[in-house]
Amino acid sequence: MKSKSVLVIGAGIGGIVAATHLAQHGIKVTVLEKNSRAGGRCDRISRDGHHFDTGPTLLVMPLLYEAEFRALGACMREKLDLQRVDPTYHLVFDDGRQLALTSDMMSMQEQLESFEPGSFQGLLRYMDEGHRHYHLGIEKLVNRDFRKVSDFFAFKNIPLAYQLKPFVNHYGNMANYFDDPRLKAAFTFQDVYMGLSPFEAPATFSMMPYTELAHGVYYPRGGMYSIVEALMDLGRTAGVEFIFDAEIQRIDINSNHARGVVLTNGQRLEADAVLANADLPYVYKDLLPDDDLAKSLNHKRFSCSVISFFWGLDKTYETLAPHTLFLADDYRENFQRIIRDLGLPDNPCLYVHAPARLDPAMAPSGQDTLIAIVPVGHLSENGGQDWAEFRDEARRQIFRRLSTLGITDLESHIKFETTFTPLSWRKRYNLMKGSTHGLCHNLTQLGYFRPSNRHPRYHNLYFTGASTHPGTGMPTAMVSGRLSAQRIIDDFASNN
Ligand SMILES: Cc1cc2nc3c(=O)[nH]c(=O)nc-3n(C[C@H](O)[C@H](O)[C@H](O)COP(=O)(O)OP(=O)(O)OC[C@H]3O[C@@H](n4cnc5c(N)ncnc54)[C@H](O)[C@@H]3O)c2cc1C
Repeated sequence: MKSKSVLVIGAGIGGIVAATHLAQHGIKVTVLEKNSRAGGRCDRISRDGHHFDTGPTLLVMPLLYEAEFRALGACMREKLDLQRVDPTYHLVFDDGRQLALTSDMMSMQEQLESFEPGSFQGLLRYMDEGHRHYHLGIEKLVNRDFRKVSDFFAFKNIPLAYQLKPFVNHYGNMANYFDDPRLKAAFTFQDVYMGLSPFEAPATFSMMPYTELAHGVYYPRGGMYSIVEALMDLGRTAGVEFIFDAEIQRIDINSNHARGVVLTNGQRLEADAVLANADLPYVYKDLLPDDDLAKSLNHKRFSCSVISFFWGLDKTYETLAPHTLFLADDYRENFQRIIRDLGLPDNPCLYVHAPARLDPAMAPSGQDTLIAIVPVGHLSENGGQDWAEFRDEARRQIFRRLSTLGITDLESHIKFETTFTPLSWRKRYNLMKGSTHGLCHNLTQLGYFRPSNRHPRYHNLYFTGASTHPGTGMPTAMVSGRLSAQRIIDDFASNN
């Protein structure tokens, strides 16, 4: 394939991985990234010795990462210096009760039984179901693409409608395992990672709490950005050319063919194929000619967004665990406010990450680095949300929740603060509606129904990343990169 060439728009995880696979097949690959460094949503801010992962903070689904590094000819554990995070999360409820989610089943038994007698047996049965969902889901939905409708609606796939519980509501399904609403919340909040409320997500997603407890949650030394560095290293070794500060203005279309791209500086580049890693709905709307496909995407469901706070502190908060999650009693109301009203809940569920607990180099000695994330609605069509007001209220809520752990002086120890609202997510990474996880993963946007890795009309235009198949998440973006590269390689081979 020496004479073939591909232009990749965006150096997010999917883009880097796809580019590397293509280059390893002898294809000439150029990646054009609008920002001045790679990673996309998996970004890093460094200031005065404080280092912040601005997007992902949890390495989940380690088996998937391992397989994807292997597919790139590398060993994950040689490329990343990993430590297991256990307990994974410290959950804090409104009544002050805490639950440390851990793979230590003795500890889980003791903790769960104190919440609800008999609930440990419930957990074991839930894990059993999660195990089934994880392995079937990865094999049948994630680790393959659906190039034609018969790949999905095949006779052999019919049992999946029962085995994966796609038509059963996740939160409703929890009644089979627990009565205590706090426990139901403890094992469904991960649906937010799919951009979904547990009150609408399919029960299939019990695979997430399962993999977190069974396979572990990890942290790479240097933070999640070290994954980007490891992947970039593999890309450069394979011969990928990365060009930064290179924003694409449009994809150059001729009839049903993508000729190449036009940059905002007017430069034109041509190639045999174009692979878009920039968020798929944005590509349809801003980089391609206006058509019915672009309009139909606008009606799809988008995931929520988040307001993130990045704080450099002049004091260490040793008592704060690496990952603390405050779960609100009005759990259902939380999701309604975010998803239906596109707003900020009155008593939001929120997440606080203290990376220096895992890697002291993330903060100067005697100081601390904190990230706090509050889920909120994505940008509304009419622009009626007041993000400055939401941001200030979210900050107040974080301080209020931290005070329940005895941390009352945080505000006075902030040396500097950076905040991201949905407007920042849209501006920095061109995420449509500022939606942090792209198109959400409800039933009608999964599998064959998710926008495919190849454009239906422009046959040499491909997609990779969170809003295309198989979906959001770092390891999933790696799978997406591999699948889209394979599709290009297959098409090049069959057109020769
Ligand atoms: C707050 C937050 C928390 C998360 N937490 C986790 C977590 O803990 N664990 C996990 O596994 N996942 C997590 N995720 C999800 C994960 O980060 C994403 O699913 C993954 O990084 C998406 O990668 P991608 O391939 O879609 O590329 P993207 O990250 O979308 O990158 C696309 C790239 O394209 C570039 N681009 C856009 N437009 C243009 C243009 N016109 N010209 C040139 N370049 C362009 C962008 O700048 C960007 O670099 C989180 C995401 C967010 C935002």
